[in-house]
Amino acid sequence: MKECNSCGKCCIKYSHGGLTASRSEIELWDEDSPQISRYVHAGKIWVDPTTHAPLELCPWLKEEPASSAPGSRLSSQVRYSCEIYYDRPDDCRFYPSTLSEMIVDECEMIEAKDIKNPKQAQLALEHIMADSWGCS
Ligand code: SF4
Ligand code: SF4
Repeated sequence: MKECNSCGKCCIKYSHGGLTASRSEIELWDEDSPQISRYVHAGKIWVDPTTHAPLELCPWLKEEPASSAPGSRLSSQVRYSCEIYYDRPDDCRFYPSTLSEMIVDECEMIEAKDIKNPKQAQLALEHIMADSWGCS
């Protein structure tokens, strides 16, 4: 299992209607981050601030210049970052959680050995994600 390489596949896949935010997350954004609240309507994320139509792509997904991407071998590929990383919803914070969803989503953290040994892969994932999941 490798560290996340910021390929952006998960954000691109789920940001169009595939994410939810809890009531407490929305209340917190309302209080402290109105710039985030603009993209929330009737409990749904992420929507156009004017029309409230669901956005095709998360407004916080930022394409990074190829030259600044970490890892020289992959530097020619487009990388992404999250502009609200520390305020992102738990749905994002807890992704990825299982090897099976990563396989479906073609997550680039997966290595060949993970498929051969899924139990070990899940343990490695939990170790890598400990900070994001808040259990370190
Ligand atoms: S809020 Fe951040 S982590 Fe979540 S989909 Fe958008 S860019 Fe990705
Ligand atoms: S699909 Fe996997 S490697 Fe790509 S950004 Fe998401 S978690 Fe990271």
